[in-house]
Amino acid sequence: MVLLGPPGAGKGTQAVMLAEKKNFLHLSTGDILRENVKRNTDIGKKVKVFMEKGELVPDDIVIEMMLDTIKNAKAKKDFILDGFPRTVYQAKKLDAELNKLKLAIDMVVYFKTGIETVILRLTGRRLCSKCGANYHIVNMPPKKQGVCDKCGSELYQRKDDSEETIKKRLEVYNSQTKELIDYYKAQGILEEVSGDLEAGAVYSELTKILNTR
Ligand code: AMP
Repeated sequence: MVLLGPPGAGKGTQAVMLAEKKNFLHLSTGDILRENVKRNTDIGKKVKVFMEKGELVPDDIVIEMMLDTIKNAKAKKDFILDGFPRTVYQAKKLDAELNKLKLAIDMVVYFKTGIETVILRLTGRRLCSKCGANYHIVNMPPKKQGVCDKCGSELYQRKDDSEETIKKRLEVYNSQTKELIDYYKAQGILEEVSGDLEAGAVYSELTKILNTR
């Protein structure tokens, strides 16, 4: 399954819920890239500046990284791609490689989300510095301010969740990622949920769709 939508649409939150409740494997390109930056790997060194500016990381880097991840995960579980593909070029490469592995994308869920929701979500988002758990200062606050409920570590704000970088990321979404909606619609595998709803309501929409497929 591929989750598609602007940054702040709630793709990551839903992917975590689906992974916990339905046993999917959650593959988030952003999380994998951030982990590489944190560990200062070769990939991390190459992608850091792009990520900080809110630009897409070059296709070749991200495609190779995600295809390796998928190959390692193959046959273990059904997987959710969160944040990949993000360009039509990436989508075509993904289709071709999955075909070779005798795999295919069953379903793409488009999170249709208004700009006001996205800005409120991203500016209030906080992450755990250790386990990566996601919070929001208003919608999903931790029990103790600034501290992760799950592992007790400190919460932080992503550098690219600043207002200026959010603007850039939305521009990038509109100019390079949005066209994937038509790409997958043409394949007859696109489903839509409202990303403006709160997490529990989106999850019920998602499970309804899963049950009818
Ligand atoms: P995310 O956590 O999905 O918001 O991604 C954070 C950042 O990682 C993006 O702003 C991009 O710089 C980079 N990134 C994530 N996924 C991709 C992708 N599929 N292609 C290119 N860059 C990506």
